[in-house]
Amino acid sequence: MPAQIIDGKETARLIRREVKVEVAALGFPPGLAAVWAGDNPASEVYVNAKRKACELAGITPYLHHLPEQATTAEVISVVRSLNRDPKIHGILVQLPLPKGIDTQAVIASIDPEKDVDGVTPASIGRLLLGQDAFAAATAAGMMELLRRYEIPVEGRRAVVVGRSNIVGKPMAVLLMHAHATVTICHSRTRDLPAVCREADILVAALNQPEMINADYVKSGAVVLDAGYSRPPGRQGDVGDVDTESASRVASWITPVPGGVGPMTIASLLRNTLKAARTALGSR
Ligand code: NDP
Repeated sequence: MPAQIIDGKETARLIRREVKVEVAALGFPPGLAAVWAGDNPASEVYVNAKRKACELAGITPYLHHLPEQATTAEVISVVRSLNRDPKIHGILVQLPLPKGIDTQAVIASIDPEKDVDGVTPASIGRLLLGQDAFAAATAAGMMELLRRYEIPVEGRRAVVVGRSNIVGKPMAVLLMHAHATVTICHSRTRDLPAVCREADILVAALNQPEMINADYVKSGAVVLDAGYSRPPGRQGDVGDVDTESASRVASWITPVPGGVGPMTIASLLRNTLKAARTALGSR
């Protein structure tokens, strides 16, 4: 039997509706600021998608676009002014920043209380320690899919392919906190298919279009595909999983598009609402 689909698009729609209701009850519009620099068309597309999602949820978006030639100090100065601005509850820095900008320094300048993307060293440290923290939006979105589809995690073997700071590492930490037994794989892992076939829950976040096929999937495994790219010559977007092949073996699978991608923005909205509530409580 082919795998059942984990519908991220529909789940994200439900979350966005929940956020909208809760925002209306808050009594003031939370503010989410996006900071980006340069002329990367993909950044423009991502920022616009986030802006639109904010507007639909009643969250006010504030867009700060700097030129390609902006310096690290200039970008940090914008972030610091947003840190101080009481209208702003969440700050996200759209990556990649142009070459020449110290991305880590920019990220570290975000106030952890407003780090709704969960990227600062403080947020990642808190997450690792099991303290209350914003988790990176894509990883948080995948965990939310497991929760809403009532897919058990505790005691199961999870394999995360990819160890980036924004997807692989936080996902591995969240799975560990949910009591999975976690293995993290990367480009130097030996016999990746054999390691992946040990997984009850397999997370693909390796930035290699459609690489994970049925050979990597244990019969009945749950496959979460964080990947998102459009290889040259392809009409549509694809993930890091060859969905058609993996579906023949998996029990549940996230499609691309309509799987993990929409959950990233939904998590960002939820985190912004949480940051606004925290700010309200501390007034
Ligand atoms: P990165 O390129 O930063 O990291 C990729 C990771 O995969 C690295 O740890 C790398 O290993 C590992 N890797 C690369 N090739 C292989 C291989 N052949 N075998 C095993 N491991 C490999 O990617 P990101 O984490 O930023 O993104 C992962 C995917 O998620 C991408 O497809 C990206 O487009 C997508 N994404 C989706 C988002 C969304 O909103 N849905 C948001 C962010 C990302 P090593 O460390 O050894 O180099």
